[in-house]
Amino acid sequence: MMLYVSTRNHKEQVSASQAILKGLADGGGLFVPEELPALGVPVERLAEMSYQETAYEVMKLFLTDFTEEELKSCIKNAYDGKFDTKEIAPLAKAGDAFYLELFHGATIAFKDMALSILPHLMITAAKKNRIEHEIVILTATSGDTGKAALAGFAGVPGTKIIVFYPKDGVSPIQQKQMVTQKGENTLVVGINGNFDQAQTGVKQMFSDKKLGEALAAAGYQFSSANSINIGRLVPQVVYYVYAYAKMVKAGEVENGEPMNVAVPTGNFGNILAAFYAKHIGLPIGKLICASNENKVLYDFFTTGTYDRNREFVLTSSPSMDILISSNLERLIYRIAGNDDKKNLSLMEGLQEQGRYEITPEMKSQLSAFYGNYASEEETAAAIRKVYKESNYILDPHTAVAAAVLDKYRAETGDTSKTVIASTASPFKFTRSVMSAIDKSYGSKPDFELVDELSALSGISVPQAIEEIRTAEVCHKTVCEINQMQSVVKEFLQIQ
Ligand SMILES: *Cc1c(COP(=O)(O)O)cnc(C)c1O
Repeated sequence: MMLYVSTRNHKEQVSASQAILKGLADGGGLFVPEELPALGVPVERLAEMSYQETAYEVMKLFLTDFTEEELKSCIKNAYDGKFDTKEIAPLAKAGDAFYLELFHGATIAFKDMALSILPHLMITAAKKNRIEHEIVILTATSGDTGKAALAGFAGVPGTKIIVFYPKDGVSPIQQKQMVTQKGENTLVVGINGNFDQAQTGVKQMFSDKKLGEALAAAGYQFSSANSINIGRLVPQVVYYVYAYAKMVKAGEVENGEPMNVAVPTGNFGNILAAFYAKHIGLPIGKLICASNENKVLYDFFTTGTYDRNREFVLTSSPSMDILISSNLERLIYRIAGNDDKKNLSLMEGLQEQGRYEITPEMKSQLSAFYGNYASEEETAAAIRKVYKESNYILDPHTAVAAAVLDKYRAETGDTSKTVIASTASPFKFTRSVMSAIDKSYGSKPDFELVDELSALSGISVPQAIEEIRTAEVCHKTVCEINQMQSVVKEFLQIQ
């Protein structure tokens, strides 16, 4: 059985199902597989598989304490009939890039890829471990996680979900999607603060022993749907394997020939999944890490110093407005030679001084990564260019990756086939997208723009957007950062 260990304390070892239930390790570390498995199935066979079949082949390598029947049932519940295309994650070619469309799920952003399956993995894990407590999902969101987690967990027996989002840091459509969420077991709260503050507040609640005891006494336990949960990371490895197999099948790459990936990055979960895919044996060349103006990762890859002490910028790609990329810790741990003490001391530096510096030896292991960023103007220009040249419309997050890919190619001359992780539907960020195409759209109301976008792209308005046109607001709670804990206690009716 594969064990998961904490990046901050090797003595903390759990099974996959326990890691999914806990989310975060006790000492604040993240669970990582003790060793990365190897992809046993040849690409020729993967090329003939459906998304669901690929998911089983990949996930069984990581979630070794789930039975075949359990895993297949989770996969079926998550993907069969839940996406608006049978391919689940189709590849679209536009210009000289391939867009892996990860936005065909319930909330039209890539978070659905993992959050549609996480509730099923979690309930299965709870059963396996004879957990009798009700599971309370506590989540901070920069926009997309919140709705995708709400959609995944709403109405799931034995669970409750509480979502905190920065009140002025998400798009109007993202906000509307969340506050109209139905379901007795859901709570959505806006905070007067930014995403990092929301995330810090949530992390503090997870590590608060007294709160944990009060919860247990009332029959609850916390778990996390944030991208630090291994139950989110593992399902994300799947679509890189799927994409490569489809590229081979389409004759775009030779079997074995490296393919680059470009990933619009925030919390470092999506690109870490690509890194894991590479390390289980998928022929991935460069991992192109694209940031927006919150370019803390670009600076890290160029200098070896991670430094969050800087101004937080609100951009048109809000799901990447992040200064602490939590999942980077898993990479740091790995390049530190799986050394928990070394990783812990760096993370303490981050906590106390807001920065840390890796050694030259660690930095030398980052050669598979290329980091760069796109300014707001460059992002808008990428949307305009791809639309003009290919009649294909990108959302601002995907556009950041497209702009960074252009920089990478100009700098290196690397012409390898590249798959861009296309993380959101343009319909989720209609205003930014339409203003990028033509400034005169800027003055129109949101839903009018939705119809204009549909007319321009020839794509019908996704169900997720139609739904919220007229939906009623069910969640009106707004709180200060220091009130997060009392809001949680009130919802759960504990002292
Ligand atoms: C969450 C999100 C990202 C960032 O993904 P990470 O895994 O946090 O790096 C990028 N784009 C969109 C649309 C997202 O929702």
